[in-house]
Amino acid sequence: MSAAEPDQYPTRKLLIGGQWADSASREQIALINPANGEVFTHVASASEVDVDLAVKSARQAFESISWRRMRPLDRGKLLERVAQLIEENADELATLECIDNGKPKHLAAAVDVPSAADTFRYMAGWCTKLSGKTLPLSGDGSHYHAYTLRQPLGVIAAIVPWNYPLAMAAWKVAPALAAGCTVVLKPSEITPLTALRLGELVLEAGIPEGVLNIVTGYGQTAGQALISHWDVDKIAFTGSTAVGKHILRSSADDLKRVSLELGGKSPTIIMPDADLEQAIPGAAMSIFFNSGQICFAGSRLLVHRDIYDVVVEGIIEVAKTLPIGDGMNPDTMIGPVVSDVQRKRIMDYIAIGQEEGAELVAGGGSGGNDQGYYVEPTILANASPGHRVFQEEIFGPVLAVTQFSDMEEAVTLANQTRYGLGANVWSQNVNTCHQFADSLNAGTVWTNCYFVIDPAMPFGGFKESGIGREVGEDGIAMYTESKSVCMKIG
Ligand code: NAD
Repeated sequence: MSAAEPDQYPTRKLLIGGQWADSASREQIALINPANGEVFTHVASASEVDVDLAVKSARQAFESISWRRMRPLDRGKLLERVAQLIEENADELATLECIDNGKPKHLAAAVDVPSAADTFRYMAGWCTKLSGKTLPLSGDGSHYHAYTLRQPLGVIAAIVPWNYPLAMAAWKVAPALAAGCTVVLKPSEITPLTALRLGELVLEAGIPEGVLNIVTGYGQTAGQALISHWDVDKIAFTGSTAVGKHILRSSADDLKRVSLELGGKSPTIIMPDADLEQAIPGAAMSIFFNSGQICFAGSRLLVHRDIYDVVVEGIIEVAKTLPIGDGMNPDTMIGPVVSDVQRKRIMDYIAIGQEEGAELVAGGGSGGNDQGYYVEPTILANASPGHRVFQEEIFGPVLAVTQFSDMEEAVTLANQTRYGLGANVWSQNVNTCHQFADSLNAGTVWTNCYFVIDPAMPFGGFKESGIGREVGEDGIAMYTESKSVCMKIG
């Protein structure tokens, strides 16, 4: 598209206090379709001034009685209505996710959109169930009635990445609103469209103005202004470990609450007694789905030496048969990666892996696509724990494969990274599964399944994969503060 041609989609604005507004600077960000590398629309680029207005609006909405003092049942009904509206607009949301992020539209329709709706529906139920406890004090001979209140934390800065733009926004906005908080959401500058559409649906559902504000913008400007703002009570962040550490450091000055969902280098372990008909496609899809751009992707495959050759052959077969192409094509299983920067980063890692001594046994190219940001499903066999491709998050469809001799060695290899987000275990022995579940340093261990994500199941990381948990009861608790009340009786 030439500069003179109009955008294919209308330019989008910021959502502040229920109104759509240009940024104070009038600056914009161009959005690029990863399938062809062309600019298809623009969004406002928020500055410090816009972020300040958004935080003020969220504060005002929090201090008014309209949201946090709303009857919990009524707040739940509004969140349930958001879930319905997401479902009613599923096709549009899946299309936006496809052109913005590159992921296949049919997979966004099957995974991302229902996941967002489910999160709002699940959190709607929590509105009426958040409660404190009564406490039996030992006291000094007097009688006391003591109890805790669970109160909303306040204004939440929710910052999300580009790999699951709508689902990640829902994971933060839904529990925060259910708890009675108000939110300033900053989507990734690369993929802001579904978050902005969510903002429209939240208003359409009848949630009061100012409860959800959305600032699109760059991390260094809008993101930085948000995490530094004195009137933000909590930062809920999902993204890279490097930015997560920066946020934790900068929150120290005023002790903002922080939850961090960060990177991963999750192992898939296949034991000799595994059902290989399930384990091979499971291991393959746990790294190739969404072009490997999943924080808990099974990017390291650890295979028992007795079945190493048969497993690697099987995964090569899967890698070769996955259709790669434009995500708008319903047959596509592997869409483009999100950006040219990301494509180059992945290709660099594939070269590094080979230089380090791993063997390229599948992929490594663009699948014959000259335009757009495509990377084939790629397998690097005989990777060693010292290799960078075994230790560092690539965030692309690149699998590093290593063999082990026994369970003890498998656990050692699996835990031998600075990350600890997920782990997949394939074995038909239930004792083996439990032993791995107990020994692996990971926030979630899946056995004989993969990618089961549910709003009822807390998700988060050990070690440098993060702090805190999202969704589930643990997830909503992170948007509340506990207050103890002690009353002398008589
Ligand atoms: P990123 O850290 O570059 O950016 C994430 C978000 O932070 C974006 O909105 C970005 O604009 C913003 N940001 C960047 N610098 C900032 C700053 N100084 N202050 C405030 N905000 C700032 O990550 P990404 O490239 O968008 O996403 C990929 C990363 O996200 C991967 O490492 C992946 O593992 C991780 N991720 C983790 C989870 C999880 O649940 N653990 C889920 C999805 C993605």
